[in-house]
Amino acid sequence: MFSITGIAFVTASILWLVWTFLFNDKFRAQMGRTANSLKYFFIVPTLFVGLSLMMFGKDNTVGTVLPMTLQFALQALMMMSMMILQWGAMMWMMSRPKIDWYMPGQTSDTLTWDDYVGMDDVRDRMKTLVDFIQNPQKYTSKGAKLPKGVLFLGPPGVGKTYLARIVACTVGVPIAICESTSMQSPFMAIGALMVKALYRKLRNLSLEYGAAIVFFDEIDAIGKSRSGAPGTMGVGMGGFMGGGAGGGILNALLGCMDGINDSEPWYIKTLRRFNLLSKKYVTRTPYVITMGATNAPIESLDSALVRDGRFDMKLHVGVAGDEGRRKQILYFIQKRRRPIEVTDIIIDRLVQDFSGLTPIEIDTTMNGAVINAVSAGRQVVTYRDLWDALIDKMYGAKEPITLLAEEQERVAYHEAGHGVCDVLLPMSGLKCSAATIVPRGKALGFVASRAFEERHTRTKEDITRRILTCLASRAVELQVLGIEMNGFTGDLNQATNMAVQMVASYGMGSRMISYAALGQFGAPNVTHEAELILRAHFKLVQQIIAENIEAVHALAKTLIKDQEIDGTEVERIVRQSAAVQSYGRLHERAFAIYEELDAAAKADGHDEKSAEFVGPALAAA
Ligand code: ADP
Repeated sequence: MFSITGIAFVTASILWLVWTFLFNDKFRAQMGRTANSLKYFFIVPTLFVGLSLMMFGKDNTVGTVLPMTLQFALQALMMMSMMILQWGAMMWMMSRPKIDWYMPGQTSDTLTWDDYVGMDDVRDRMKTLVDFIQNPQKYTSKGAKLPKGVLFLGPPGVGKTYLARIVACTVGVPIAICESTSMQSPFMAIGALMVKALYRKLRNLSLEYGAAIVFFDEIDAIGKSRSGAPGTMGVGMGGFMGGGAGGGILNALLGCMDGINDSEPWYIKTLRRFNLLSKKYVTRTPYVITMGATNAPIESLDSALVRDGRFDMKLHVGVAGDEGRRKQILYFIQKRRRPIEVTDIIIDRLVQDFSGLTPIEIDTTMNGAVINAVSAGRQVVTYRDLWDALIDKMYGAKEPITLLAEEQERVAYHEAGHGVCDVLLPMSGLKCSAATIVPRGKALGFVASRAFEERHTRTKEDITRRILTCLASRAVELQVLGIEMNGFTGDLNQATNMAVQMVASYGMGSRMISYAALGQFGAPNVTHEAELILRAHFKLVQQIIAENIEAVHALAKTLIKDQEIDGTEVERIVRQSAAVQSYGRLHERAFAIYEELDAAAKADGHDEKSAEFVGPALAAA
């Protein structure tokens, strides 16, 4: 029933298989790696043809088998093409980078350097770079080399992308502003291909215009450290899917920034390949500058990416200082069509109130103020509108909660305790900015302070003052109202944290050891000492409140009347009725009380060792 040809084919295949396996070494030695592929090339069609002949039984190879084989091959080819097409379309749709091209003379963006205010040193450095690109001779003749890359580092909203846009509008060479996240493709190698294609285009443009720039926003999306440095996620998952965020793109970027990828157009490359171009023929060198911005710390980026020679220039862009902020406030005021009430006093106040705010935050606060004025039917935006907008922004919108008169009084006194201490014992660099008994967010009221100058360190005195301010609310509750409220929870929490840190990490307690390093924040002798510190501070703040009780009453009454007052007003009210205007070296007084409490505890038979070892055992018994 089987055809002879079929049997012959199958026998031949089996023989071939046996032969290749039997004489494998020799076969391999002769044929090298081709042997394997050849084997399957032969066996698969042979088996297929043989089996079909066996099945269909006709002994007419040319007339039956050939058309059938051809038809099968054609169908397989079409199926494969369809799959490739679908796959390709999917990849194309999912892997398109988001790039804004700024071509000289063709951009609708009209920013100038006058639009970049408040950060004069950053602006001047970028202006110099732009000048370098526009007049390279001026610098290269003196031996200077154009930087290859500029990296902007800093928190969000400080104007890193904005800087790139201003450069794009002023530099006069093509610039591609690119979202790095859009370069991440779920498909292996696509991200790398996109980076290479982008640089190829930039190189060609740079030959035409003299230079070209690419700016990668949020460059950490593609430039994270490959070694997974502390605080980083390392590279992407690798493999076929998910490899796009990983080393592939980064390696491509590193290569492109180095200019390793050859810069010659395809026709020059073809001529070279066929030896039709003299080796001496040198094409013009393209010049591509890479700029990047990130909010992530520089350590999280790959060290090969941030090294000199790639990102030669690293610019830290932060929030502006007082002078810079003043300029930014005036700039954003000018941009409003509705007039904002401006006097020197108001600007001085705003400079303080807005301290620490980024330009975008200043802008949105002004916007909120204009909305406040319009909704109140006022033609001119007042300081109060600005202040309300700021408080809304910082602490959340007002909650629709109505407090009973009795509760309002309690909250007002609780906050007055904080307010008096905020004014009389401020931490260095901080100033009271607001006091309110209007519920916002989760708080029924609060007193806020803002930094009027940048501080990066804290002293024992600062921490003491903060603990005293936290505990002041309970001192007032007891002294004035004769009650204790659950609103003290957050204050006690903060004060406890600071006292524990003093003992366990800052070396400000009685021990010169870091319990934090030992992972023993909650060790019994830490909690014992922290509790004594808190009790000592509480005693001290009770004295301070008693000395300035008139100021507490004055502030609480104003709060009940006005509900919400700004920092300047709080300061004025407190200073008017305070008995003591300022306090010095409070930590010495607090720790003198601590010594007394400690001695008393020891005299009472309290032994720290027993707290540590016997205490828990006794408790368990
Ligand atoms: P980042 O990239 O640092 O997150 P952006 O560049 O997106 O911040 O800045 C947000 C907006 O803030 C800008 O569109 C611009 O309106 C404003 N801005 C930032 N810096 C300045 C500045 N120095 N002067 C004027 N406006 C600024």
